[in-house]
Amino acid sequence: MTPDDDIIISQLKALYEEMDAVYRAAADQAGFSCHGCDGVRCCTVDVPIHTYAEMVYLIRGIDELSPSLQEEIGHRARRLVWAKDRAPQGVEYRNAVCAVNFEGQCALYEYRPMICRLAGIPYIAIRPDMTSVEGRGCERFENEFEPTHPDLVLDRSSFYIRMSQLELHAVKLRRRKTPVHTVGEIIYYGTQGL
Ligand code: SF4
Repeated sequence: MTPDDDIIISQLKALYEEMDAVYRAAADQAGFSCHGCDGVRCCTVDVPIHTYAEMVYLIRGIDELSPSLQEEIGHRARRLVWAKDRAPQGVEYRNAVCAVNFEGQCALYEYRPMICRLAGIPYIAIRPDMTSVEGRGCERFENEFEPTHPDLVLDRSSFYIRMSQLELHAVKLRRRKTPVHTVGEIIYYGTQGL
């Protein structure tokens, strides 16, 4: 970790705070929460992380865990990376859950990346080229909450734009592009993989 990482992380945390507030407000409108969900459908092994800031923050979260939990997560991450190497489309890899999901709870909840923070609610995002991308809510949202709140859509545009600005800043400082990694890969490779 470098002093630049501290600056990048503080900017990321500010962005996460805003994101959480907007998400919470949207979820409250529908009375939606992840409480009681085992997370198996959202917390898949192949959640891709694209930004350096989110990767270093996740690693910082790992450092905060107890040594025994770090060891367990390390084993899980290694098994996932090996399973992906052997057969990325195989049942063992595809049916596994994220290395930090323990009985439906995220062990890195405060450190979880944007893709996890915004999951569950249907969304739209306008790209810089003015094309748009839309996504569905999770199965539980669709079954239990969408029927009574069919128009609830989270606009992710500003979050995506600011996250890409953060990444551009990181690329400039580090003079290299950030490889895309899953949560398991970030844990397995650590800072050497960034
Ligand atoms: S980081 Fe946490 S919230 Fe995200 S997929 Fe893994 S367990 Fe789920």
